[in-house]
Amino acid sequence: MGEKNKKIVKTIKVNADECNGCRACEVICSAFHAEPKYSSNNPARSRIRVVRDPLRDIYVPVYAGEYAPAECMGRDKYVIDGKEYEECAFCRASCPSRDIFKEPDSGLPLKCDMCEGEDEPLCVKWCITDALTYEEREEEVEEQPEQDDLEMGLDALTNKYGMDKIIETLARMSEAKQG
Ligand code: SF4
Ligand code: SF4
Repeated sequence: MGEKNKKIVKTIKVNADECNGCRACEVICSAFHAEPKYSSNNPARSRIRVVRDPLRDIYVPVYAGEYAPAECMGRDKYVIDGKEYEECAFCRASCPSRDIFKEPDSGLPLKCDMCEGEDEPLCVKWCITDALTYEEREEEVEEQPEQDDLEMGLDALTNKYGMDKIIETLARMSEAKQG
């Protein structure tokens, strides 16, 4: 077992009842993470996505969590205030069973980084209905090494192509560069 340490846990509290589906959060998130920053916006690259079903008045903002290499075995259905939500509506994983939380070009997983370097998450700032609230709390947690974007991407590539193929390709690329 790892050592327990005090840590500030950052979360975004989602109040789906207040969301009107405007998608401002998707726009700003994708613009903040564009290369170069703010050069473009594309909700498909956003780390927060709004599950929308306007006819049933369903808007669920979900921000991207961990990468999941395999689909889960069971699915949950939720009925809240008489509204039935689709099975994966509240799930934050970048997972093989759906397209959200993946770079559209590469298919690599995307994860919310709480807008690293900003004093407050930008999706929270841009949400004028207060459907999103930023919260920090102190918790005693077991230290787990956090995966950054590069590690998560390599993990996904390794699961898809196998470690040998990745090593072989890297060796070939390195040789060509030194070439
Ligand atoms: S900005 Fe707020 S109200 Fe608009 S879609 Fe996102 S969470 Fe919903
Ligand atoms: S906190 Fe930042 S990175 Fe995370 S979903 Fe919101 S805008 Fe995107």
